[in-house]
Amino acid sequence: MLLDVKNLSVHYYTLSGVVRAVENVSFHINESEWLTFVGESGSGKSTVAHGIMNLVPSPGKIVGGHVIFDGKNLVTMKNEELKKIRGKEISMVFQDPMTSLDPLRKVGDQIVEVMVEHGVEPEEAKKNAKELLKSVNIPPDRLTYYPHQLSGGQRQRIIISMAMAFRPKLLIADEPTTALDVLVQDSIMDLLDEMKSQGTSIFLITHDISLAVERSDKIGIMYAGKLMEYGDVDAIIENPLHPYTSALFASTPDLWSDKKIYAIPGYPPDLREPPSGCRFHPRCQVFKERKDLKGICNVKEPKMIEAEPGHFVACHLYGDENGNSA
Ligand code: ATP
Ligand code: SF4
Repeated sequence: MLLDVKNLSVHYYTLSGVVRAVENVSFHINESEWLTFVGESGSGKSTVAHGIMNLVPSPGKIVGGHVIFDGKNLVTMKNEELKKIRGKEISMVFQDPMTSLDPLRKVGDQIVEVMVEHGVEPEEAKKNAKELLKSVNIPPDRLTYYPHQLSGGQRQRIIISMAMAFRPKLLIADEPTTALDVLVQDSIMDLLDEMKSQGTSIFLITHDISLAVERSDKIGIMYAGKLMEYGDVDAIIENPLHPYTSALFASTPDLWSDKKIYAIPGYPPDLREPPSGCRFHPRCQVFKERKDLKGICNVKEPKMIEAEPGHFVACHLYGDENGNSA
């Protein structure tokens, strides 16, 4: 196992209250495995990604759990040690490549600088930079361009090429294709696939369920700071267990059928005061329809159980008669 996240909890201490952005989230990623997290905006996906890197922005704080990467706990690791791991063993790619590029410097200089920082000789780094651009189908003369002279897709490919240079053990990609058209999006996903085939594990965050389904080995469904369902992608697509997963799938447009798109009633909760019990209960159709769940779903928090091998769910429908789901 490459990454083992256990009971990770992250809160933001804002002036208007404590935002419980991620609560007791557990999952793991094996070597050369691709896990994708999907979920509505604000469900805590990016916070999980930052938690893994132990880079939660202020006023956020990891308040519980551990992140074991390659046998070491990143939550308790000293900053100096963490710096050596970030960028080299774990790389991160964000939605907006401009957050990782300096707009005032040529891209070639920036690529060379990153390599030199990681111990590559300057002459070697210049040679490598040309090869890197070629490997992501960008003409090497673009090294002399400033970031704004490149398209969004080219900028993102350059960021990924920089990540590829160090063959990280884990690549975290947070909405890397949201601002790009479908063809460019595909080319970025192909690059991630290529990294995976070279041994890198991928943790992708996206709103786009079709992307998650096409490329991943495993998926995780986040809602209101909790992981609701998680496991083998085929098992979840063929047999979604959690009412939220089913609702999310039903609300996804399908180009090839004229199925009616379902709108999940209501809104995600305010994470300063999340609902009691199951955080999804105020919007859950099953809870509304089944009187026997009153006093269970709205009171007790469901625990994550392995409902079938490699397929985990946190919902009282799969618990015992006391509403204990584990
Ligand atoms: P999106 O898909 O829109 O990027 P997400 O699923 O990645 O959303 P997060 O960005 O992790 O969700 O946010 C989770 C919760 O934490 C949200 O309620 C959000 O408002 C809150 N949050 C995120 N960053 C901060 C911050 N810096 N300060 C306060 N609250 C924050
Ligand atoms: Fe619905 Fe209850 Fe399951 Fe939550 S625990 S998803 S409210 S059935």
